[in-house]
Amino acid sequence: MDRSADTIQTIVIYRGKLELASEFNSGALQGSDVTDNPVIRDMDGCAILRGESLSGLIRQELIRLAGYGCRDFTHPGTIVPCSCAVCSLMGHSRIPPDSADTGSLQYYSSRLKVSGGRFHNEAARIRHGVAIDRKFAVAAAHKKFDFEALMPGATAIFAIEIENPSEDETALIERLFTGMKYGFLSLGGKKGAGLGAFILKECKKRSFDMGARDGVIAYLSKDFQEASEAHVPAPDDKRESFIEVVCAESEKRFFHDFRLIIPLDLWFPELVLFHDPLEASLVGSDHASIRDKEGNPFLPPSTIRGVLRSRAEQILRTLNPASACDSAHDAFSCAAKLEARKKKEEQKGIDYEPPWEKLEDGTLLCMGCRLFGSAFLGSRLLFQTGAYNRDKNHDEVLQHFVAIDRFTGGAKEGAKYDALPLYNVLFSDCKIIIKDFSLWQIGLLALVMKDVMQSDIRMGFGTRKGYGQAVGIFQRDKTILLSTSRTICSCRIGDLYNKDTGVDTTVKMFLEKAVQEFRDMVQKYKGTEYENV
Ligand SMILES: [Zn+2]
Ligand SMILES: [Zn+2]
Repeated sequence: MDRSADTIQTIVIYRGKLELASEFNSGALQGSDVTDNPVIRDMDGCAILRGESLSGLIRQELIRLAGYGCRDFTHPGTIVPCSCAVCSLMGHSRIPPDSADTGSLQYYSSRLKVSGGRFHNEAARIRHGVAIDRKFAVAAAHKKFDFEALMPGATAIFAIEIENPSEDETALIERLFTGMKYGFLSLGGKKGAGLGAFILKECKKRSFDMGARDGVIAYLSKDFQEASEAHVPAPDDKRESFIEVVCAESEKRFFHDFRLIIPLDLWFPELVLFHDPLEASLVGSDHASIRDKEGNPFLPPSTIRGVLRSRAEQILRTLNPASACDSAHDAFSCAAKLEARKKKEEQKGIDYEPPWEKLEDGTLLCMGCRLFGSAFLGSRLLFQTGAYNRDKNHDEVLQHFVAIDRFTGGAKEGAKYDALPLYNVLFSDCKIIIKDFSLWQIGLLALVMKDVMQSDIRMGFGTRKGYGQAVGIFQRDKTILLSTSRTICSCRIGDLYNKDTGVDTTVKMFLEKAVQEFRDMVQKYKGTEYENV
């Protein structure tokens, strides 16, 4: 039903405050003098949260919460008229049957308006990244990049304004807030690298009666005095509910609705350094760790991600060399091959977009790209960094190195350098977020996580010098969150253990099934279309 033509009787405004839980880059369109990829700012130079980036995210999430009934989802890539719950709220263009060939469009106008605002308490840094060569797990040559990022802790106010909302519609929006409050969503650019995570800190709601004079005045003056706390449903924290959802879902192979947040502590018992050239120049050392706003060492999520991807691809390549591509070499990378094909088609005057089924089913992307994403397909996994905990007995240690001349065996002239690594640090509450995955992807992730738990993984600078040994720890009192379009539930990690059987039988069976599915998949995998032509 098109409600956008009705007279306005009520306007409901939700005003919320969100706080960045990871770095943020708005995904700007133009570079600046300082970096290729700056944060978007207003005339006064304040970083801003744009309403559009929030509204895109809201639409995507509402479609999921409303059960994927939208034709944008069921008929991707085509413009089809749709009047689902989300399109009726957020608007949609449609082609009327009689004028289809004239190309004119009709619009439902949106009854939902999203506005953003300035970031407060912000600190921005230029972040230097380097792509990791997946095969050799070292920094890849000529793959350095930089971008500006707001550091975690900045806050921004946003508002969602809805004309004539029905009760179902406000309930839908409030369920969206639950997802925001528990950290299921992220904003802006470089989400795959773990940027843009945020938490909804508070949310007020006020309804304005537009039929009454007072209501109109209050609305026009944006009077929020009488606002009340918005209802944000809490997750269902019964262990049984959690197990029940896992059981029901384990019958499926593809989970386009299922999202999981797993908390994890990462402990670096030995020396570790996450290199940042800016910090190094500030402290006057050749290599020093990146810091957050408070000056504490910061574990960049992109580091966790790069290392785990490299390990996942190692596992894939060991089992079947065709199952993982090599991003550092254009001739062997899925994205580069797709790009080349796109160019070729464009020369023939054809606008080529790889069909999404072929991206999902392995025809065009290797198994590594399907889990960790490529330029053509979003990542199924996101990582978030945790809070820094310093061991009070230890501090940073300045180490001096000297390169050894390979011929004389003596110290090489002019090749002295130093590093300021950390020692014995813990980053608690790092998060792994999994979404829209298939069963085999959980299997592969489980195998990678086994290596993390057994401290078989190193992160950051100087891993060849013995730096960066990482130990993954699941704390039993931390909570796993699980979200489907129907419910959000939570479960203490400790409650998934059983005195006699170890890990809960249902969860264990789910994981075993996932690993088996992965093994079958990787064995059968014949490589992408390119290898076969
Ligand atoms: Zn729709
Ligand atoms: Zn690939």
